[in-house]
Amino acid sequence: MQYSCNRYELKCNECGKRYGNQPLSACPDCIAPLELVYDLEAARGVFTRENIAAGPANIWRYAALLPIPDGFQPDLPVGFTPLVRAKNLGKRIGANNLYIKNDAVCFPTLSFKDRVVSVALANAQKFGFTTVGCSSTGNLANSVAAQAARLGLKATILVPADLEPAKILNTLVYGARLVRIDGNYDHVNRLCTLIADEYAWGFVNVNLRPYYAEGSKTVGYEIAEQLGWRLPDNVVVPMAGGSLIRKIRKAFNELIYLGLVEDKPVRFFGAQATGCSPISTAVKEGTEDIVPQRPNTIARSLAIGNPADGPAAAKMIRAEGGWAEDVSDIEIVSGIQELAETEGIFTETAGGVTTAVTARLYAQGRITPDQITVTCITGNGLKTTDALINSFSHLDARAVRPRMADFDAYLRELDGTTAATPETETELVAAGVTNVR
Ligand SMILES: *Cc1c(COP(=O)(O)O)cnc(C)c1O
Repeated sequence: MQYSCNRYELKCNECGKRYGNQPLSACPDCIAPLELVYDLEAARGVFTRENIAAGPANIWRYAALLPIPDGFQPDLPVGFTPLVRAKNLGKRIGANNLYIKNDAVCFPTLSFKDRVVSVALANAQKFGFTTVGCSSTGNLANSVAAQAARLGLKATILVPADLEPAKILNTLVYGARLVRIDGNYDHVNRLCTLIADEYAWGFVNVNLRPYYAEGSKTVGYEIAEQLGWRLPDNVVVPMAGGSLIRKIRKAFNELIYLGLVEDKPVRFFGAQATGCSPISTAVKEGTEDIVPQRPNTIARSLAIGNPADGPAAAKMIRAEGGWAEDVSDIEIVSGIQELAETEGIFTETAGGVTTAVTARLYAQGRITPDQITVTCITGNGLKTTDALINSFSHLDARAVRPRMADFDAYLRELDGTTAATPETETELVAAGVTNVR
């Protein structure tokens, strides 16, 4: 189960030993995570602004710096999600140059996980796996199930038993085998490590993790390209395992090295829920030692108590002058509502975390109003509607009879007014006004 490729291969972060291309996530010698390294010089004439612009409007426009086996024909239009200027949200929180990278609308399953899964599964096929799987906090399960179905691969997916019903349903519908584990994500993940050895299955975030993680770089490439080949001053990123935030940095580094963007300082800000905040806690305490936590938050997609890339993420954030914050479940719900009310974007709990943390960073003065700041919205609100169930009394509002008078009365009731000024045609006529038109 190996293939050779002269564009990229696995390398140990600690000892520097190289391992070619195989389903392996940690160095057998020093147990440190493996990462893919590229022949960047060979990419120099290929990974250019012009070639990228001529590519398809999805992540495969960046294929020259993704671990995609030779001969793989990508046919899913994943990624290239909108980068939108957030003027209304900005006004509320004191930001003049705020952008939202909106992966709530990522194809095909409405979260940024579609990016990582498409890259991992390309390699799973090359390695000869016929069954793939993952340990998941929800979004990964949805994406693996959908993309495996499309590729004709069998999928076995393990999740913590308390996952949101929508995320369970959004996995089962694709015909995947789903196993709910009586434990939290960290229990699920440990079990998957054992299963991967025993069954020879390709687990996208276990034995295929280095390939999977590279898919996250596309968020960074897209941000730079969509800003007109410029880097922002700040990026705010939700953190679960701590992989995405590091890979956005890696993407920026590659773009700088190859001359596609000008080098400049970029600060990275990590966002977590207080109920599962091992990385933000480490950042605040100025350490890279992650103290594992037992997750207790509505932001289940971020609920990893012992994050694999936590130490490296904490180190990177501090080294570049960034910061990390965490917010309560109440603030998460407010964050979801604030983003929806100001920008018309409905995000899941992870996006509530990111929005609330972004607001706090401006309030703290860690991000100043005129800096170009990108906040990463990574998942869709339709998957976590249960988090909002108590926020809207209207959900069980009484039905109104189909009559004007009932409607008028109901409207006044809703707006909390008793003696409304006449505003409808009927009311104006009733009030003695004849030339209503
Ligand atoms: C997985 C996930 C993240 C974070 O990913 P890591 O790379 O593990 O830090 C962020 N947001 C959502 C919605 C996710 O599903």
